[in-house]
Amino acid sequence: MGHQDRLWPQQNCKGRRCLDCLGFSSPGAIGSNGIRLTTMESALTARDRVGVQDFVLLENFTSEAAFIENLRKRFKENLIYTYIGSVLVSVNPYKDLEIYSKQHMERYRGVSFYEVSPHLYAIADNSYRALRTERKDQCILISGESGAGKTEATKKILQYYAVTCPVSDQVETVKDRLLQSNPVLEAFGNAKTLRNDNSSRFGKYMDVQFDYKGAPVGGHILNYLLEKSRVVHQNHGERNFHIFYQLLEGGEEELLRRLGLEKNPQQYHYLIKGQCAKVSSINDKNDWKVVRKALSVINFSDNDVEDLLSIVASVLHLGNVQFAADEQGNAQVTTENQIKYLARLLGAEASVLREALINKKIIAKGEELVSPLNLEQAAYARDALAKAVYGRTFSWLVNKINRSLAYKEAEYPSWRSSTTVLGLLDIYGFEVFQHNSFEQFCINYCNEKLQQLFIELTLKSEQEEYESEGIAWESIHYFNNKIICDLVEEKFKGIISILDEECLRPGDATDMTFLEKLEDTVKNHPHFLTHKLADQKTRKSMGREEFRLLHYAGEVTYSVTGFLDKNNDLLFRNLKEAMCNSENPIINQCFDRTELTDKKRPETVATQFKNSLSKLMEILMSKEPSYIRCIKPNDAKQSGRFDEVLIRHQVKYLGLMENLRVRRAGFAYRRKYEVFLQRYKSLCPETWPTWDGRPHDGVAVLVKHLGYKPEEYKMGRTKIFIRFPKTLFATEDALEI
Ligand code: ATP
Ligand code: MG
Repeated sequence: MGHQDRLWPQQNCKGRRCLDCLGFSSPGAIGSNGIRLTTMESALTARDRVGVQDFVLLENFTSEAAFIENLRKRFKENLIYTYIGSVLVSVNPYKDLEIYSKQHMERYRGVSFYEVSPHLYAIADNSYRALRTERKDQCILISGESGAGKTEATKKILQYYAVTCPVSDQVETVKDRLLQSNPVLEAFGNAKTLRNDNSSRFGKYMDVQFDYKGAPVGGHILNYLLEKSRVVHQNHGERNFHIFYQLLEGGEEELLRRLGLEKNPQQYHYLIKGQCAKVSSINDKNDWKVVRKALSVINFSDNDVEDLLSIVASVLHLGNVQFAADEQGNAQVTTENQIKYLARLLGAEASVLREALINKKIIAKGEELVSPLNLEQAAYARDALAKAVYGRTFSWLVNKINRSLAYKEAEYPSWRSSTTVLGLLDIYGFEVFQHNSFEQFCINYCNEKLQQLFIELTLKSEQEEYESEGIAWESIHYFNNKIICDLVEEKFKGIISILDEECLRPGDATDMTFLEKLEDTVKNHPHFLTHKLADQKTRKSMGREEFRLLHYAGEVTYSVTGFLDKNNDLLFRNLKEAMCNSENPIINQCFDRTELTDKKRPETVATQFKNSLSKLMEILMSKEPSYIRCIKPNDAKQSGRFDEVLIRHQVKYLGLMENLRVRRAGFAYRRKYEVFLQRYKSLCPETWPTWDGRPHDGVAVLVKHLGYKPEEYKMGRTKIFIRFPKTLFATEDALEI
């Protein structure tokens, strides 16, 4: 038996979920003493070589070095998955490990969480079974930095459900649609970056709905903060969103002709900034075929596809619109051809578009004022339009996919219509770069919120188990990051409020006035620092345009440059008007007329994000969570390379040591009396070969005989709780003698 096949103990089981708790005993090998090795034993004896399969069993659980050493040992053996209690830590292998086959899926199907070696499928199956047996909604939260394997994990979990869940007639199409929504979203929302050739440039939360039989019958996707700036600019070595290259590379001649496009990406300003249109790991032509097929599976008619591609093409044409200054320095369009195509593809009037690109219209005291733009302003307006068009089309796409995934309740008789939901969250992990800006600020704020949820829910479930087992709750000391969430999101005094205030203030507001206001308002906050507020030593490490937040996972310094602009995300009024009048049905739906008449200013980007996060938290709070923490082993996207510095960094920013501390704060290990007794009864003459009394009493006799000290364990209603791994290991070693 390979270590993949070995069985594993079930500490932290909530007592309702696994087969052992339901009275089943697990199959296993025979140990040297002739006793059946039920679960963890073979793994425990191999712990020197392959490390422990659960970090809670690390003797020195506060040591980061021991944590990383355990990861390294396992990674070397191609064991990329390890638990922290019920949290799964995954290290991207950057190679196909052949552990995702149908046979592997079968191995994990319906098997107790800790009976098999750690795997994504164990998490997927465990959540699914809890959903079925307890009828409680579940969610799986996947985090990690770019390239760590979040999206791959999400897709593998979806595949697991597609293969292992029961089917009915309608369900086959829903399964297909759930799977096929991915290539479409990836085409429009993923791009090649320096970190990942298929990097998701948006956050995604996907609900899968299951019917009373446990068959998937519907789905719903929420998207977060698409990186729109990529449409108009890419860093060196990076690309725009995949769809542009796919269309040019794969689109039929006739289609490209209709869209006025040439095959060569070098022709388009929006595609040449990163200077890497071709990527060896990406086959745009093939991907195009996959996307085209996927679009039809998710209910896109030919017209829908044509409208959608017209928008993709119009963004490329927009990027090629050029300006020259007239004698007054006002911008004039010099590329009439582009305007012509744009007008056709967007179903707008050429003259209206042209004028809207070089003038700015504002309404002041009920009067329309039109003023010409200079070259820089016109380029800015053009790029703003491209970003708005693409960003809104992406949201439209998500809505359209949602309509095709929607659970058609009417098709089911009412007694069958009650559903349960399993959510998958694939969202950016903590980001700390050399230079951190508004985007990192939003992303890291999101991670603070998720950490809060984690702490609350983990502690809650620990507490519940203690209570149900009748063990006195021992309060766990942990860092509550609410103070940081408040610093960001509090009304009036929080960073987002202050930023919004500056964005809405007419006149001379700038990024620097925002920083000054921030300094004034939150100057004494223990998690906030600026150049001015810092002591002499720290000051050296900060620029004048920066502020620093002490996040739960560590310090991050943000530059305020661009904060106001990115938060405002303004589109000039006449461009909006032109889009509202568009005859392209998608654009027409994306730009709503009420935007023009609404007196209220639209919500800023940060406030929208804050609100959508607060909704997400509500959704997640109502579900039972599981966690997958993904780690990227090296920056070279290479297999077999374990870059310790990089990994240490991620262990820190994923908050894994804190995870482990919370999990280990109480008891490292817990197990049903029956199972514990069965395993260790040979160590005590009174319990060997059989114990006729209550298992609880048998265990009491057994541990007394083994010399367990009172502080080492507690007897619950149905389980024994052992505080330290060494107690368990010593007992385990005794078996071997
Ligand atoms: P981003 O935040 O940039 O979207 P991500 O965490 O979603 O990053 P993925 O796109 O899932 O990262 O993974 C990056 C690449 O790593 C994949 O394209 C694939 O090549 C490889 N990879 C990830 N997970 C696995 C795995 N379990 N087995 C083999 N290769 C993997
Ligand atoms: Mg991704």
